[in-house]
Amino acid sequence: MTERVIALDIGGTFIKRGVFIGGNLVETAKFPTRAQSLQTIQSAVAQSVECWKYGNIDGIAVSSAGDIDPYRGRCVYATDNLRGYSGFDIKNWLEERYGVRASALNDGHAALLGEAYRRKLDVPAVMLTLGTGVGGAYFDGKEVVFGEDFRYGRFGHLVMRPNGKTCNCGQRGCIEQYVSASALKEKCAAAGTVPEKVFFGEDARSRAVADEWLNDLCEAMETVYRAQKYELMIFGGGVCGSAQRWLPLLRQKTSRRAEISVLLNTAGMEGAYRWWCKNGKN
Ligand SMILES: [Zn+2]
Repeated sequence: MTERVIALDIGGTFIKRGVFIGGNLVETAKFPTRAQSLQTIQSAVAQSVECWKYGNIDGIAVSSAGDIDPYRGRCVYATDNLRGYSGFDIKNWLEERYGVRASALNDGHAALLGEAYRRKLDVPAVMLTLGTGVGGAYFDGKEVVFGEDFRYGRFGHLVMRPNGKTCNCGQRGCIEQYVSASALKEKCAAAGTVPEKVFFGEDARSRAVADEWLNDLCEAMETVYRAQKYELMIFGGGVCGSAQRWLPLLRQKTSRRAEISVLLNTAGMEGAYRWWCKNGKN
């Protein structure tokens, strides 16, 4: 029998849903999370599962924002981006509601797990996802390290510039404040350009912005390396759309091995599915 598994990637704004049939991601769709309360989140999750009408399913694999205990499939803590979500037993709730085996893990952990599986990784690797903030995860050569508090790998809040820009976590000079997609957008706005164009611009102002961001990215890579040694750095997030342009420039500035996510925005779903296969299914 060919196994059918629904994979959900739950973020503060959207729930991405994929369907794996026989191990292949065959379909994806996107739904608003409606993160006002646990009830609205639950109904958004239910809708994203139930509108798949093409046959029975054998399981549900979740990748989610928040601190998730991957062994219990439970959200230990979430910020107000997902209101009421702290303490939610994602796995149990799905299993009771749909009568199939379910699993859940953090989205950063899931993305790197998906990458590691796809690349057949066997060296220590860090993934930084450059989005509104900077997400992260660490793979030790064999598995993704979750940490005792299920927060290991959140490198976006390592301080790279003491007394630097104030971060919403309360510290100053966090990596996130310099290399996130939002930080790049700000730098671009100040120079009268946009992230989509800045790496292609031939004018001096574009080159200066691109150069500054890439220098910051190198510094971020070094800051992470001091905290956690790695052999490969994988970048994910929206900024990767223009990576064919900026990655060669970055490589001129660092001797560390840097690559772009091969799965891009399906990495979370892929990792959720692999975790389900390994830990959720039985
Ligand atoms: Zn911070």
